[in-house]
Amino acid sequence: MKAVVLNRISPVEEKPLELMDLPRPVPGRGQILVKVSVCGICHTELDEIEGRVSLSRLPIVLGHEVVGRVESLGQGAGKFKRGDRVGIAWINWACGRCSFCLKGEENLCDSARWTGKDADGGYAQYTVVSEDFAYPIPERFTDVKAAPLLCAGVIGYRALRLSGMEDGKVLGLYGFGASAHIVIQIAKYKYPNSKVFVFTRPGQKEHQDLASKLGADWIGATGDASPQKLNCAIDFTPVGEPVREALKNLEKGGRVVINAIRKATRVPELDYTEHLWHEKEVKSVANVTRRDAQEFLPLAAEIPIVPETQEFKLEEANEALVLLKEGKIRGAGVLRIAE
Ligand SMILES: [Zn+2]
Ligand SMILES: [Zn+2]
Repeated sequence: MKAVVLNRISPVEEKPLELMDLPRPVPGRGQILVKVSVCGICHTELDEIEGRVSLSRLPIVLGHEVVGRVESLGQGAGKFKRGDRVGIAWINWACGRCSFCLKGEENLCDSARWTGKDADGGYAQYTVVSEDFAYPIPERFTDVKAAPLLCAGVIGYRALRLSGMEDGKVLGLYGFGASAHIVIQIAKYKYPNSKVFVFTRPGQKEHQDLASKLGADWIGATGDASPQKLNCAIDFTPVGEPVREALKNLEKGGRVVINAIRKATRVPELDYTEHLWHEKEVKSVANVTRRDAQEFLPLAAEIPIVPETQEFKLEEANEALVLLKEGKIRGAGVLRIAE
């Protein structure tokens, strides 16, 4: 099968992903073989390629926003049948027995495996996954539109839930890429009496236009004072500075949730009085659970979420990821794998 493989850690500008011919994987017990149609690209891939997230092996096939059809079933698998459309997300497997798993926090499981990090992902024509970690895709979505829901959407949904957001509160979104442009649509639907303020890099006009199209109540640059204090803020950016900026704009008792697996730069020093006093909170979002995906996908169809997508061929994965790093993708980037 055709696959784009990461063989070495390097800056993405050096185009380290290589198109290769690999043997088609064989589904093990309880697994399904999925013929991949499309795979979304995610910031986490940049962290993996550039060494900020350590991979359990090299070479590896990246990609954890996988949409495809069940091609065959491993022994004992029976939840899906051949031809069913399924999605695969970042969580690839969890033990189901540890204290975290038993509390429904399988996102924190020490033995969990992650798609495209510990197991080959979706930058390939075929992939295998445990049937318990695959999800039916609501009919409303095409393959391309479904892909960004599987990480950008699911983790955005989790971040919004962890932010403590309620109707009437003011929400701030720092960074407006794949995840934030889905979160604003969830927020506008679930919290109709709330305001959503969007902060982007200065001059990031494409992102600002998209935010305005999706109903942002105010749009500014990271570092600007918001017109009203924020009760909840979600930081989607890959750098440290916006964490402090969000804390500056936060209302007393507010919470900043950081939706990023790694930061490319440090969170700057915080001043206790200015940034944290008055019960302000900072919380990170780590990974996702199956429950997040199972709750979010039907909600996405009900709203319905309209993801903005930019398509690339599998062979263009390096170029697409460079554009992602430069903040030049409007909405979410998706690799088309099957013709
Ligand atoms: Zn992701
Ligand atoms: Zn566990």
